[in-house]
Amino acid sequence: MHTGPKLWVLGNGQLGAMLKHAGESIDIEVIPLAIDSDGKPPVLDSADSVTAEREHWPANPIADQLFQHANFSSRRAFTEIADRCNEKTLFDRLGLANTPWCLVNDQTSVGDLYEKLGNKIVLKRRSGGYDGKGQQWLRATDNDDIPADWHGNAIAEQAIAFDEEVSLIGARNASGQSIFYPLTLNLHQDGILLASLAPLDRLQPYQDQAEFMLAKLMDELDYIGVLTMECFRLGDQLMINEVAPRVHNSGHWTMDGASLSQFDLHVRAVMALPISQPDIIGKSVMINLLGLEWNPLWSTVPYASVYWYDKEVLPGRKLGHINLNVQSRTQLDDALSVLSGLLSDRYHPIYDWLRSNF
Ligand code: ATP
Ligand code: MG
Repeated sequence: MHTGPKLWVLGNGQLGAMLKHAGESIDIEVIPLAIDSDGKPPVLDSADSVTAEREHWPANPIADQLFQHANFSSRRAFTEIADRCNEKTLFDRLGLANTPWCLVNDQTSVGDLYEKLGNKIVLKRRSGGYDGKGQQWLRATDNDDIPADWHGNAIAEQAIAFDEEVSLIGARNASGQSIFYPLTLNLHQDGILLASLAPLDRLQPYQDQAEFMLAKLMDELDYIGVLTMECFRLGDQLMINEVAPRVHNSGHWTMDGASLSQFDLHVRAVMALPISQPDIIGKSVMINLLGLEWNPLWSTVPYASVYWYDKEVLPGRKLGHINLNVQSRTQLDDALSVLSGLLSDRYHPIYDWLRSNF
Protein backbone atom coordinates (compact mmCIF):
# COMPACT_ATOMS: atom_id res chain seq x y z
CA MET A 1 0.00 0.00 0.00
CA HIS A 2 1.57 3.27 -1.17
CA THR A 3 1.11 6.17 1.24
CA GLY A 4 3.60 8.85 0.14
CA PRO A 5 3.44 11.36 -2.71
CA LYS A 6 2.68 9.99 -6.18
CA LEU A 7 4.50 10.55 -9.44
CA TRP A 8 2.17 11.32 -12.37
CA VAL A 9 3.47 10.81 -15.90
CA LEU A 10 2.21 12.71 -18.94
CA GLY A 11 1.84 9.87 -21.43
CA ASN A 12 1.27 6.16 -21.01
CA GLY A 13 3.53 4.49 -23.56
CA GLN A 14 6.39 2.10 -22.86
CA LEU A 15 8.50 4.76 -21.15
CA GLY A 16 5.69 5.46 -18.68
CA ALA A 17 5.35 1.72 -18.02
CA MET A 18 9.10 1.41 -17.36
CA LEU A 19 8.99 4.39 -14.98
CA LYS A 20 6.08 2.75 -13.15
CA HIS A 21 8.08 -0.45 -12.81
CA ALA A 22 11.07 1.50 -11.44
CA GLY A 23 8.84 3.15 -8.84
CA GLU A 24 7.55 -0.18 -7.56
CA SER A 25 10.89 -1.28 -6.10
CA ILE A 26 11.10 1.85 -3.93
CA ASP A 27 7.42 2.08 -3.00
CA ILE A 28 6.66 5.10 -5.19
CA GLU A 29 3.33 4.98 -6.97
CA VAL A 30 3.93 6.08 -10.57
CA ILE A 31 0.78 6.78 -12.58
CA PRO A 32 1.17 7.15 -16.35
CA LEU A 33 -1.82 8.93 -17.92
CA ALA A 34 -3.04 8.86 -21.51
CA ILE A 35 -2.79 12.45 -22.70
CA ASP A 36 -5.29 12.21 -25.53
CA SER A 37 -8.18 10.98 -23.40
CA ASP A 38 -10.98 13.36 -22.57
CA GLY A 39 -11.78 11.66 -19.29
CA LYS A 40 -12.11 13.49 -15.99
CA PRO A 41 -8.86 15.14 -14.81
CA PRO A 42 -7.39 13.29 -11.82
CA VAL A 43 -7.05 14.85 -8.39
CA LEU A 44 -3.42 15.65 -7.67
CA ASP A 45 -2.06 16.35 -4.21
CA SER A 46 0.18 19.38 -3.80
CA ALA A 47 2.94 17.02 -2.56
CA ASP A 48 2.74 14.86 -5.73
CA SER A 49 5.22 15.28 -8.57
CA VAL A 50 4.67 15.26 -12.32
CA THR A 51 6.95 14.27 -15.18
CA ALA A 52 6.52 13.46 -18.88
CA GLU A 53 7.55 10.57 -21.08
CA ARG A 54 7.19 12.58 -24.30
CA GLU A 55 7.83 16.11 -25.55
CA HIS A 56 4.52 16.81 -27.25
CA TRP A 57 0.91 16.39 -26.33
CA PRO A 58 -2.38 17.80 -27.52
CA ALA A 59 -3.90 20.55 -25.37
CA ASN A 60 -6.62 19.06 -23.17
CA PRO A 61 -7.74 19.44 -19.55
CA ILE A 62 -5.77 16.43 -18.26
CA ALA A 63 -2.50 17.44 -19.91
CA ASP A 64 -2.95 21.09 -18.91
CA GLN A 65 -3.58 20.18 -15.30
CA LEU A 66 -0.49 17.95 -15.13
CA PHE A 67 1.77 20.41 -16.92
CA GLN A 68 0.71 23.32 -14.70
CA HIS A 69 1.22 21.43 -11.42
CA ALA A 70 3.71 23.22 -9.15
CA ASN A 71 5.89 20.10 -9.00
CA PHE A 72 6.14 19.45 -12.75
CA SER A 73 9.83 18.64 -13.07
CA SER A 74 11.68 20.99 -15.39
CA ARG A 75 8.76 22.74 -17.09
CA ARG A 76 11.17 25.20 -18.68
CA ALA A 77 13.09 22.41 -20.42
CA PHE A 78 9.93 21.39 -22.23
CA THR A 79 9.21 24.84 -23.59
CA GLU A 80 12.88 25.31 -24.57
CA ILE A 81 13.51 21.88 -26.07
CA ALA A 82 10.20 20.72 -27.53
CA ASP A 83 10.49 23.28 -30.35
CA ARG A 84 13.57 22.59 -32.48
CA CYS A 85 14.05 26.29 -33.23
CA ASN A 86 14.19 27.16 -29.51
CA GLU A 87 16.39 24.11 -28.87
CA LYS A 88 18.95 25.06 -31.52
CA THR A 89 18.91 28.70 -30.36
CA LEU A 90 19.66 27.49 -26.83
CA PHE A 91 22.62 25.35 -28.03
CA ASP A 92 24.03 28.33 -29.93
CA ARG A 93 23.56 30.68 -26.98
CA LEU A 94 25.45 28.27 -24.70
CA GLY A 95 28.20 27.75 -27.29
CA LEU A 96 27.43 24.04 -27.62
CA ALA A 97 28.53 22.54 -30.95
CA ASN A 98 25.49 21.44 -32.94
CA THR A 99 24.60 20.84 -36.58
CA PRO A 100 24.62 24.04 -38.71
CA TRP A 101 21.01 25.09 -39.18
CA CYS A 102 18.58 27.83 -40.07
CA LEU A 103 14.91 28.57 -39.68
CA VAL A 104 12.62 27.87 -42.63
CA ASN A 105 10.14 30.76 -42.70
CA ASP A 106 7.60 31.80 -45.32
CA GLN A 107 10.23 33.68 -47.35
CA THR A 108 12.99 31.06 -47.25
CA SER A 109 13.96 29.75 -50.69
CA VAL A 110 15.66 26.44 -51.28
CA GLY A 111 18.54 28.38 -52.88
CA ASP A 112 19.12 30.18 -49.55
CA LEU A 113 19.30 26.84 -47.79
CA TYR A 114 21.76 25.24 -50.21
CA GLU A 115 23.91 28.36 -50.09
CA LYS A 116 24.00 28.45 -46.27
CA LEU A 117 24.08 24.74 -45.48
CA GLY A 118 25.46 22.93 -48.50
CA ASN A 119 24.05 20.61 -51.14
CA LYS A 120 22.39 18.10 -48.85
CA ILE A 121 20.08 19.21 -46.08
CA VAL A 122 17.38 17.80 -43.87
CA LEU A 123 14.19 19.68 -43.03
CA LYS A 124 12.82 18.92 -39.59
CA ARG A 125 9.43 19.96 -38.27
CA ARG A 126 9.87 22.35 -35.35
CA SER A 127 7.77 20.05 -33.18
CA GLY A 128 6.08 16.67 -33.22
CA GLY A 129 8.78 14.57 -34.95
CA TYR A 130 10.02 11.24 -33.64
CA ASP A 131 11.73 8.13 -35.01
CA GLY A 132 12.69 10.06 -38.15
CA LYS A 133 9.09 11.14 -38.78
CA GLY A 134 8.65 14.84 -39.53
CA GLN A 135 11.84 14.95 -41.60
CA GLN A 136 12.46 15.55 -45.29
CA TRP A 137 15.81 15.31 -47.08
CA LEU A 138 16.62 17.77 -49.90
CA ARG A 139 19.45 17.45 -52.42
CA ALA A 140 20.62 20.24 -54.71
CA THR A 141 21.77 17.63 -57.25
CA ASP A 142 18.17 16.38 -57.52
CA ASN A 143 16.81 19.94 -57.69
CA ASP A 144 14.71 19.24 -54.59
CA ASP A 145 12.60 22.17 -53.44
CA ILE A 146 11.02 22.96 -50.06
CA PRO A 147 7.55 21.36 -50.08
CA ALA A 148 4.88 24.05 -49.62
CA ASP A 149 3.63 22.89 -46.23
CA TRP A 150 7.13 22.99 -44.69
CA HIS A 151 7.41 26.78 -44.81
CA GLY A 152 6.91 28.45 -41.45
CA ASN A 153 7.07 25.36 -39.25
CA ALA A 154 10.47 23.77 -39.86
CA ILE A 155 14.19 24.19 -39.48
CA ALA A 156 16.82 23.06 -41.98
CA GLU A 157 20.05 21.33 -40.99
CA GLN A 158 23.21 20.53 -42.87
CA ALA A 159 23.59 16.80 -43.58
CA ILE A 160 26.47 15.64 -41.41
CA ALA A 161 28.82 12.94 -42.68
CA PHE A 162 29.42 11.68 -39.15
CA ASP A 163 31.74 8.86 -38.12
CA GLU A 164 29.14 7.48 -35.73
CA GLU A 165 26.27 8.39 -33.43
CA VAL A 166 26.52 8.41 -29.64
CA SER A 167 24.26 9.49 -26.81
CA LEU A 168 24.81 10.55 -23.25
CA ILE A 169 22.19 9.96 -20.58
CA GLY A 170 22.53 12.16 -17.51
CA ALA A 171 20.48 12.73 -14.39
CA ARG A 172 20.45 15.83 -12.20
CA ASN A 173 18.70 16.52 -8.91
CA ALA A 174 17.39 19.70 -7.33
CA SER A 175 20.65 20.40 -5.52
CA GLY A 176 22.56 20.34 -8.80
CA GLN A 177 24.20 16.92 -8.40
CA SER A 178 24.70 15.36 -11.84
CA ILE A 179 25.34 11.75 -12.77
CA PHE A 180 26.20 10.32 -16.17
CA TYR A 181 26.26 6.88 -17.74
CA PRO A 182 29.10 5.99 -20.07
CA LEU A 183 28.52 7.09 -23.66
CA THR A 184 26.30 4.80 -25.71
CA LEU A 185 27.02 3.95 -29.35
CA ASN A 186 23.85 3.98 -31.47
CA LEU A 187 22.92 2.56 -34.85
CA HIS A 188 20.04 4.24 -36.70
CA GLN A 189 18.41 3.28 -39.97
CA ASP A 190 15.99 5.63 -41.77
CA GLY A 191 15.92 7.86 -38.68
CA ILE A 192 14.93 5.10 -36.24
CA LEU A 193 17.13 3.57 -33.56
CA LEU A 194 17.96 -0.08 -34.31
CA ALA A 195 20.56 -0.92 -31.68
CA SER A 196 22.76 0.47 -28.92
CA LEU A 197 26.02 -0.72 -27.36
CA ALA A 198 27.67 0.40 -24.09
CA PRO A 199 30.10 0.86 -22.49
CA LEU A 200 32.99 1.01 -24.96
CA ASP A 201 36.59 1.77 -23.95
CA ARG A 202 37.20 3.51 -27.23
CA LEU A 203 34.46 6.09 -26.45
CA GLN A 204 36.04 6.96 -23.10
CA PRO A 205 38.14 9.81 -24.62
CA TYR A 206 34.89 11.64 -25.53
CA GLN A 207 33.22 11.14 -22.15
CA ASP A 208 34.48 14.38 -20.54
CA GLN A 209 33.56 16.45 -23.59
CA ALA A 210 30.05 14.97 -23.62
CA GLU A 211 29.54 15.41 -19.87
CA PHE A 212 30.70 19.02 -20.07
CA MET A 213 28.14 19.74 -22.80
CA LEU A 214 25.22 18.02 -21.10
CA ALA A 215 26.08 19.48 -17.67
CA LYS A 216 26.09 22.97 -19.17
CA LEU A 217 22.63 22.38 -20.57
CA MET A 218 21.26 20.82 -17.39
CA ASP A 219 22.66 23.62 -15.21
CA GLU A 220 21.29 26.30 -17.54
CA LEU A 221 17.82 24.75 -17.40
CA ASP A 222 18.09 23.97 -13.67
CA TYR A 223 17.03 20.55 -14.87
CA ILE A 224 15.70 17.80 -12.60
CA GLY A 225 15.56 14.20 -13.84
CA VAL A 226 17.06 12.37 -16.80
CA LEU A 227 18.10 14.38 -19.86
CA THR A 228 19.40 12.68 -23.01
CA MET A 229 21.83 14.17 -25.50
CA GLU A 230 22.18 12.61 -28.97
CA CYS A 231 25.42 13.49 -30.77
CA PHE A 232 27.24 12.90 -34.00
CA ARG A 233 30.95 12.16 -33.65
CA LEU A 234 33.17 13.64 -36.34
CA GLY A 235 36.79 12.85 -35.57
CA ASP A 236 37.47 14.18 -32.07
CA GLN A 237 34.49 16.51 -32.03
CA LEU A 238 31.02 15.82 -30.70
CA MET A 239 28.19 17.76 -32.30
CA ILE A 240 24.73 17.73 -30.72
CA ASN A 241 21.97 16.37 -32.94
CA GLU A 242 19.16 16.85 -30.42
CA VAL A 243 18.33 16.47 -26.76
CA ALA A 244 15.30 14.91 -25.09
CA PRO A 245 14.02 16.03 -21.67
CA ARG A 246 13.23 12.48 -20.61
CA VAL A 247 14.35 8.89 -20.40
CA HIS A 248 15.35 7.61 -23.83
CA ASN A 249 15.42 4.51 -26.00
CA SER A 250 19.22 4.65 -26.21
CA GLY A 251 19.32 4.24 -22.41
CA HIS A 252 17.27 1.05 -22.30
CA TRP A 253 20.44 -1.02 -21.88
CA THR A 254 20.75 0.40 -18.34
CA MET A 255 17.80 -1.81 -17.28
CA ASP A 256 20.21 -4.76 -17.30
CA GLY A 257 23.64 -3.18 -17.59
CA ALA A 258 23.63 -0.87 -14.57
CA SER A 259 22.83 -1.15 -10.87
CA LEU A 260 20.42 1.77 -11.29
CA SER A 261 18.62 2.13 -14.61
CA GLN A 262 17.79 5.46 -16.26
CA PHE A 263 14.23 4.92 -14.99
CA ASP A 264 15.46 4.40 -11.41
CA LEU A 265 17.50 7.61 -11.58
CA HIS A 266 14.67 9.62 -13.12
CA VAL A 267 12.12 8.56 -10.49
CA ARG A 268 14.59 9.23 -7.67
CA ALA A 269 15.65 12.64 -9.02
CA VAL A 270 12.11 13.96 -9.60
CA MET A 271 10.91 12.59 -6.24
CA ALA A 272 13.81 14.33 -4.43
CA LEU A 273 15.33 11.02 -3.32
CA PRO A 274 19.10 10.44 -3.19
CA ILE A 275 20.82 9.55 -6.48
CA SER A 276 24.21 7.91 -6.87
CA GLN A 277 26.55 6.80 -9.63
CA PRO A 278 25.31 3.41 -10.91
CA ASP A 279 27.73 0.49 -11.18
CA ILE A 280 28.04 -0.72 -14.76
CA ILE A 281 27.71 -4.46 -15.29
CA GLY A 282 29.61 -6.06 -18.18
CA LYS A 283 28.73 -4.83 -21.65
CA SER A 284 25.22 -4.30 -22.91
CA VAL A 285 23.53 -4.47 -26.26
CA MET A 286 20.00 -3.21 -26.89
CA ILE A 287 18.13 -4.27 -30.00
CA ASN A 288 14.77 -2.70 -30.85
CA LEU A 289 11.99 -5.04 -31.97
CA LEU A 290 10.42 -3.14 -34.86
CA GLY A 291 7.14 -4.17 -36.47
CA LEU A 292 7.48 -7.83 -35.42
CA GLU A 293 4.98 -10.30 -34.02
CA TRP A 294 5.74 -11.49 -30.48
CA ASN A 295 7.99 -14.57 -30.41
CA PRO A 296 8.25 -16.52 -27.12
CA LEU A 297 11.55 -18.05 -28.33
CA TRP A 298 13.31 -14.70 -27.83
CA SER A 299 13.51 -15.59 -24.15
CA THR A 300 15.70 -18.60 -25.03
CA VAL A 301 18.54 -16.35 -26.30
CA PRO A 302 21.50 -16.60 -23.90
CA TYR A 303 22.13 -13.47 -21.77
CA ALA A 304 18.91 -11.88 -23.07
CA SER A 305 16.14 -9.99 -21.28
CA VAL A 306 13.07 -9.36 -23.40
CA TYR A 307 10.77 -6.36 -22.97
CA TRP A 308 7.47 -6.35 -24.87
CA TYR A 309 5.34 -3.20 -24.88
CA ASP A 310 2.00 -4.82 -25.71
CA LYS A 311 1.20 -2.38 -28.50
CA GLU A 312 -0.64 -2.99 -31.76
CA VAL A 313 1.78 -4.47 -34.32
CA LEU A 314 2.34 -1.92 -37.11
CA PRO A 315 5.15 -1.89 -39.71
CA GLY A 316 8.32 -0.35 -38.31
CA ARG A 317 6.76 0.44 -34.93
CA LYS A 318 8.83 0.02 -31.75
CA LEU A 319 7.09 -2.93 -30.09
CA GLY A 320 9.73 -4.07 -27.64
CA HIS A 321 13.44 -4.49 -27.16
CA ILE A 322 15.95 -7.16 -26.23
CA ASN A 323 18.86 -6.42 -23.92
CA LEU A 324 21.91 -8.67 -24.02
CA ASN A 325 24.18 -8.29 -21.01
CA VAL A 326 27.46 -10.09 -21.57
CA GLN A 327 30.93 -10.39 -20.07
CA SER A 328 32.88 -11.36 -23.19
CA ARG A 329 32.98 -11.47 -26.95
CA THR A 330 32.29 -15.22 -26.80
CA GLN A 331 29.09 -14.60 -24.88
CA LEU A 332 28.04 -11.98 -27.43
CA ASP A 333 28.67 -14.43 -30.28
CA ASP A 334 26.67 -17.14 -28.47
CA ALA A 335 23.75 -14.77 -28.03
CA LEU A 336 23.82 -13.47 -31.61
CA SER A 337 24.03 -16.96 -33.11
CA VAL A 338 20.70 -17.86 -31.47
CA LEU A 339 19.09 -14.46 -31.97
CA SER A 340 19.93 -14.29 -35.68
CA GLY A 341 17.79 -17.39 -36.23
CA LEU A 342 14.82 -15.66 -34.61
CA LEU A 343 14.87 -12.26 -36.34
CA SER A 344 14.37 -11.32 -39.99
CA ASP A 345 17.09 -10.42 -42.52
CA ARG A 346 16.56 -6.74 -41.73
CA TYR A 347 18.55 -7.36 -38.56
CA HIS A 348 21.68 -8.75 -40.23
CA PRO A 349 23.47 -5.38 -40.47
CA ILE A 350 23.05 -5.07 -36.69
CA TYR A 351 25.04 -8.21 -35.93
CA ASP A 352 27.96 -7.07 -38.11
CA TRP A 353 27.82 -3.63 -36.50
CA LEU A 354 27.83 -5.16 -33.01
CA ARG A 355 30.68 -7.55 -33.78
CA SER A 356 32.87 -4.87 -35.30
CA ASN A 357 32.25 -2.36 -32.47
CA PHE A 358 32.17 -4.63 -29.43
P1 ATP B 1 14.07 10.56 -32.08
O1 ATP B 1 13.32 9.30 -32.33
O2 ATP B 1 15.45 10.35 -31.53
O3 ATP B 1 13.30 11.61 -31.34
P2 ATP B 1 13.83 12.25 -34.34
O4 ATP B 1 12.86 11.74 -35.31
O5 ATP B 1 13.45 13.34 -33.43
O6 ATP B 1 14.42 11.08 -33.53
P3 ATP B 1 16.55 13.05 -35.09
O7 ATP B 1 17.18 12.44 -33.89
O8 ATP B 1 16.75 14.51 -35.29
O9 ATP B 1 14.99 12.78 -35.22
O10 ATP B 1 17.05 12.28 -36.39
C1 ATP B 1 16.94 10.87 -36.49
C2 ATP B 1 18.19 10.33 -37.16
O11 ATP B 1 18.32 10.87 -38.49
C3 ATP B 1 19.49 10.68 -36.46
O12 ATP B 1 19.75 9.81 -35.39
C4 ATP B 1 20.47 10.51 -37.62
O13 ATP B 1 20.73 9.15 -37.89
C5 ATP B 1 19.69 11.09 -38.79
N1 ATP B 1 19.94 12.55 -38.89
C6 ATP B 1 19.23 13.52 -38.30
N2 ATP B 1 19.74 14.73 -38.58
C7 ATP B 1 20.82 14.54 -39.36
C8 ATP B 1 21.79 15.41 -39.96
N3 ATP B 1 21.73 16.73 -39.83
N4 ATP B 1 22.76 14.83 -40.70
C9 ATP B 1 22.84 13.49 -40.83
N5 ATP B 1 21.95 12.62 -40.29
C10 ATP B 1 20.95 13.12 -39.55
MG1 MG C 1 16.87 11.48 -32.28
